[in-house]
Amino acid sequence: MTSMLREHPPEMQAVAEADLREAARLRALDRLDILDTPREASFDRITRLIRTVLDVPIAIVSVIDGHRQWYKACEGLATSEAERKDTFCRYTILQDSPLIVQDATKDPRFADNPHVRNDPHIRFYAGVPLRTRDGHNVGSVCAIGYTPRQFSERETAILQDLADLAMEDLELRAHASSDALTGVLARRAFMEQGGRAFAVAQRGRFDFSCIILDVDHFKSVNDTFGHGVGDKVLHGLAKQCGNILRDVDIFGRIGGEEFAMLLHAGRNETLQIAERLRGAIEAMRLAHGSLKVTITASLGVASLDSTTPNLQELIERADLAMYRAKNAGRNRIVSWNPLGNEAVQLRRRVLKAGQIVFNGRMSTIDCTVRSLGEDGATIDVSNIAGIPDQFMLVIRADRFETKCRVVSQAERRLEIVFD
Ligand code: GH3
Ligand code: MG
Ligand code: MG
Repeated sequence: MTSMLREHPPEMQAVAEADLREAARLRALDRLDILDTPREASFDRITRLIRTVLDVPIAIVSVIDGHRQWYKACEGLATSEAERKDTFCRYTILQDSPLIVQDATKDPRFADNPHVRNDPHIRFYAGVPLRTRDGHNVGSVCAIGYTPRQFSERETAILQDLADLAMEDLELRAHASSDALTGVLARRAFMEQGGRAFAVAQRGRFDFSCIILDVDHFKSVNDTFGHGVGDKVLHGLAKQCGNILRDVDIFGRIGGEEFAMLLHAGRNETLQIAERLRGAIEAMRLAHGSLKVTITASLGVASLDSTTPNLQELIERADLAMYRAKNAGRNRIVSWNPLGNEAVQLRRRVLKAGQIVFNGRMSTIDCTVRSLGEDGATIDVSNIAGIPDQFMLVIRADRFETKCRVVSQAERRLEIVFD
């Protein structure tokens, strides 16, 4: 294990301005805390409006991550994200004004695009950047059609208005304190309250622990019973957990089907509470017609000790333990163990654009770096197929480049360690 962020060959020293701009853009996106959050009516309304008012088959409100375009709301497509390099919106976020493409087959930037040549055979595109108050284009609002089309000034103005609305919603949402579906704290509020409680506990050396809870195979609940039932399940789960937790505990929804709790309790007591939560969730029965929907959850527990520098780290430890619970078969609780041989080093949660480089630098795949430490990182890609076990990870804006190896992979997420 060597020291943090090693230096790099001189030819890499000059960081392109575009890379720095992109890094700042991703930090702005991170502040909005929107990636991978569930659907929300206000954004769905915007895409519905675009479809009807502008008479297009596809409408999307999206943000652009390091390696992908992720849809906060989408009408007319079955997918929820697309690989960034193939998107129209990656061009939209490079400009301050709307991008209108009347006929994609006649535009050299898009004529060979897979979404133009193949399904869904895009011909017309109009996109407006989603611009934060401090001037970062975090995403786009777009209207897409299957036939070439002129887009009038009036239509462009409507799309711009809807993009402004979406941006206002994004900013409002980022500052809301409670989650609309479950009533528990939204992520930002959870982190704020949690940060204060952590500081008090650390100073006073009080017992303090974190539980991270993630619903098992929740995707299949949605796929089998529909999103509406999935929502009811989450609502019911939050209620069950709320009944078990005490008023002084801090309870938040930090992801779609992921919850975090901070308790003024030591390790053993927290493990007991976690077991009660697990049991209550397993015992839940949600009637759906003649069927009963059941779920389980995996929980990770970490307790404050002298090696816990901050709340972020406490949560990351509980999260790591939760992932171990998943790997060990789900529907169980795992307590963070400092002797575990994985990522015991400090990892910071980050949102950075990176590249996976291999094949003697001939092959490059975009990725998003989600956490970064001295010893390794967590990265997301659009597709893990074709990624070798060993490669170079490059983060251009940080002049970071290092050899690494994959230690685990799940769907589109890779855990890597630096060699
Ligand atoms: P795992 O056991 O590995 O956690 O599997 P999983 O299917 O739960 O994990 P994954 O992260 O792949 O899927 C989470 C799913 O949760 C995907 C998303 O559609 C769904 N989801 C997230 N937020 C909401 C929500 O607010 N409502 C509904 N109905 N579904 C949601
Ligand atoms: Mg899950
Ligand atoms: Mg999850």
